[in-house]
Parts: sequence; C-alpha cells; structure tokens
Amino acid sequence: MADEIATAPGRAPARLDWSYAPAPEATDHVKVREDYGLLIGGKWAAPLSGSRFKTINPATEEVLASVAEAGEEDVDAAVKAARAAYAKTWSKTSGTERAKYLYRIARILQERAREFAVLETMNGGKPIKESRDVDVPLAAAHFFYHAGWADKLDYAFPGRRPRPLGVAAQVIPWNFPLLMAAWKLAPALAAGNTVVLKPAETTPLTALLLGEVLQQAELPAGVVNIVTGAGQTGAALVAHGGVDKVAFTGSTEVGKAIQRTLAGSGKRLTLELGGKAANIVLDDAPIDQAVEGIINGIYFNQGHVCCAGSRLLVQESIAEPLVAKLKRRMATLRVGDPLDKNTDVGAINSRAQLDRIEELVASGEADGAEVYQPPCELPERGFWFRPTVFTGVAQSYRIAQEEIFGPVLSVLTFRTPDEAVQKANNTPYGLSAGVWTDKGSRILDLAGRLRAGVVWANTFNRFDPTSPFGGYKESGFGREGGRHGLAAYLDLT
Ligand code: NDP
Repeated sequence: MADEIATAPGRAPARLDWSYAPAPEATDHVKVREDYGLLIGGKWAAPLSGSRFKTINPATEEVLASVAEAGEEDVDAAVKAARAAYAKTWSKTSGTERAKYLYRIARILQERAREFAVLETMNGGKPIKESRDVDVPLAAAHFFYHAGWADKLDYAFPGRRPRPLGVAAQVIPWNFPLLMAAWKLAPALAAGNTVVLKPAETTPLTALLLGEVLQQAELPAGVVNIVTGAGQTGAALVAHGGVDKVAFTGSTEVGKAIQRTLAGSGKRLTLELGGKAANIVLDDAPIDQAVEGIINGIYFNQGHVCCAGSRLLVQESIAEPLVAKLKRRMATLRVGDPLDKNTDVGAINSRAQLDRIEELVASGEADGAEVYQPPCELPERGFWFRPTVFTGVAQSYRIAQEEIFGPVLSVLTFRTPDEAVQKANNTPYGLSAGVWTDKGSRILDLAGRLRAGVVWANTFNRFDPTSPFGGYKESGFGREGGRHGLAAYLDLT
C-alpha cells in the first residue's frame, strides 16, 4: 500500500511503501513422494483397485503427487487388518502402553511440525501461519491430551466399565486434514480401538505423512490403516460389516446418507456436520475487539470452517459504525500465496468449492443484498475468492441459510437480545455461536438460550482438546474432545 505524506514546504511529498516484503516459507525440507500407496496392516500397499488420482496444490494447480484410490477390496483388506490388530494386539495392550504410543506420536508431530505445516499449506491452500500456529500444534495437543486419559479410563467414567468398541471407521474432510485426523485417531486409540481412516480426496498428503509418523512411533501394525480415495471409498468403508463404529466429519448431506446406511446395523455413529453460526454483537460490546473476532470468525481458513461465524448479527444501534470498521479492516487482509508468512487469506481448497462459493454469492446479489469486497489483486493461477461481506441480508436469503464454506459474511441486524436469539436459532444448523458484550450476565443469558454446541464469549474459533465440540440439529450429534469425545469410543456398561 503506497501512500503520500506531506514533507517540508517546497519539497515534493515522499512516497512511502507500506507493503511487507515477501516472506515465503521454504519447501525444500518437505519430501513429497511421486506416488503414495495405502497403509494396510502396517505396510504401504499398491491399491488392488489399480486406480490412482492426482492431488494438487490449489494455490498453483500444480500436481503434487499421485495417490492410491482404494476400492471395495482395499477397504475390505484394511478393515480386516484393523480387526486382526484389535484381536491380537491392541485390545491386549494396557492403557499405560497405549499412552506411550500416543505420547510418541505427539512428540514426533512437534519435532516434524514445520514439515507438516508446509505440506498442509501446499496441499490445502491454507495460510502457512495458520497451519503452523493452529493446525499442527492443536493436532499434537490432541495426542498429548488423549495420551493422558489412556490409562485413566476408569477414573474418567467412575462407576462404569469402559471397554473399547472394536474397529472404528473414520471419514474426514478437507478443511483441517491433519487436525481432523488427530481429532479422530487420538480418542479412538486412547480408548483401545483400532482404526481405518479415510482422508478427503483433495487433501490426503498430511494424513499419509501422519501414517509415516505412526510407523516411526512403532505403533503395532494394523492399529491404524489409511485408505485414500473419493466419496465411494468413504461409502464402502462406513457400510462395511466389519466396522463397529463410524465417525464422520463433513457435509450434512453425506452425514444423512451415512445415517440411513447405518440404520438398524447396531454400529455406533457420531456426525460432525455443517454450520451457519451466528456471531452476535450487542450494543455494549468493545467494537474494535469484536471486529477482530468477526474477521477471525469468518476469514480464518478462507471460511472453510464448519463452525465459522458466517452470520453476523449486530444490534441495530451500532450496525453502521461496526460495518464501517469491519470494511476498513477487511481492506488490510492480505490475500495470496499461502506459503507467504504475511498471508491472511489463502487459496480456496478446490475448483468445486470455488464454484459453490461463486454460485451462492451470485444468489445473494440476485436476492438484493449489497456486496462489498476490498480491492485486492488475486494470483492468476489457482483458486481464489476475495473476502466478501453482504449487508441488507434478509433471513430468507440463501446466503443467510446455507453453509457457504468460504470467506463470505452475511450481516443481519436485531433490536433486542430476544430477537438476536430468535434469529440466531432460525437455521437448520446448531454447531456454534459467538456473543460479544461487556456484561457477563448477558453472556450467560444468551449462551443458555442459543441452540449451539459451542458458544464463544468475546472471542471466536478457539479450540482445545479438553473441550467437547459438536452440534445440534443438522449439525450432527456426538461430541469430539474432552471426556464426552472419549465416551463416543467406549462401551460404558
Ligand atoms: P463431503 O461431506 O462430501 O466430504 C467429507 C468426507 O466424506 C470426505 O472424505 C469425502 O470424500 C467423504 N464422502 C463423500 N461422500 C461420501 C459417502 N457417500 N459416504 C462416506 N463418505 C463420503 O463434503 P464435500 O467435500 O463435498 O464438501 C461439500 C460441502 O460440505 C462444503 O461446501 C461444506 O459446506 C460442507 N463441508 C462441511 C465440513 C464440516 O467440517 N462440517 C467439512 C467439509 C465440507 P471425498 O473428499 O473424497 O469426496
């Protein structure tokens, strides 16, 4: 951003260039293999299906690697390997021993943090500062936290007899590939289950690198199996008769399909699905702090966040100054190369997701909402979308009802806290919400009435392995994190 400033009389104004110098993260320490196999029974295997697919860097559209596409036979082999490892090894491994493996995994993740952060950004498009400061440290924290529980399950659930369920099928999305793998694997292993993990088609690389870490930690063969592929691989996995528990994070549509498939099967199921969170700003809120929270709530990870604060509900009396400040702040967001440490908003994860965002934004404009996007240059190659805010949004608009899963905020107003609660709850979802106010009593009052699994107060998008996370209504059921998350992997008779 160049700017003119006045200097001494008679002299031309000096031009100041306020832009940061580029600060790209090095990639030479990350070894991306040309092709990847499936991790089954402790060995990397070529797919029996004979199929492969390419995974790309969404910021450049360059092909990074060729990845195995697991078919039904591969899924079957992985489930059988998990079952054998459960029967022969893992169900006989004490909690103390299981904890040792989890601690090892956590520590190796910390040691190899930079490699994981760079690979996550290359494969997913998220800014390196987020992979480095959020995804990877939180993934390690999940393994540390659950390592702590592995030998204390009797104390976590006093008066019950906690026993593992058996083989867990875990299907994860593309928005937090490593972190979601950690959210799924750590409690399952701590509780004594074995696993077949299915990473998302567009972002398999950090899950596969995690597979190498599991081998480095000498986790017994078959305790974790990784089958890459597309939706069909996930569908084959969850429907497999040898699976005792299914944990899914992804879209509500697929979550419903899985629930139908599993009905009557006796398999345990947890679903963590979409959201359309309300971020509520009351008239006594500290506005500058709230603006930072709104920015973090929706533009973090390009808005590819199930709990993103995608609906801003602002009290009418402060709406004008707040939206003005928000737009000024949006203009300072740096969009571009995700590997640049200055970047705030990286690449959209895939062409398909970009198409979906563009379609929903076009619907908002057609409905009559007013759109604002700060001026910014977008790279020529790759998938990009400018940070966007809509004002003049009615509750009936699609942009106020549907999950956009992109850097797009819809602003609505309210007059009283009651109206805010009514509007916030007026969606099929119920994953998260935020409340900004000066008064603790108002926070407690609103938090109790918001139908959302997580309510943040004067902050947003904070995650901690000790804290249960999950939704109501079409955002799914079951919790991940904390003792509640652990319970989902245990039979508690
Ligand atoms: P999906 O629900 O299709 O993907 C989530 C995971 O499920 C992926 O691993 C996917 O594989 C797999 N999968 C797809 N179909 C099936 C199936 N029939 N049975 C079992 N597993 C399956 O989400 P999309 O990637 O298609 O994203 C679409 C929308 O979903 C987004 O725009 C967003 O609104 C929402 N979403 C929400 C997420 C959340 O965290 N709540 C996360 C991701 C998306 P594959 O990737 O190979 O298709």
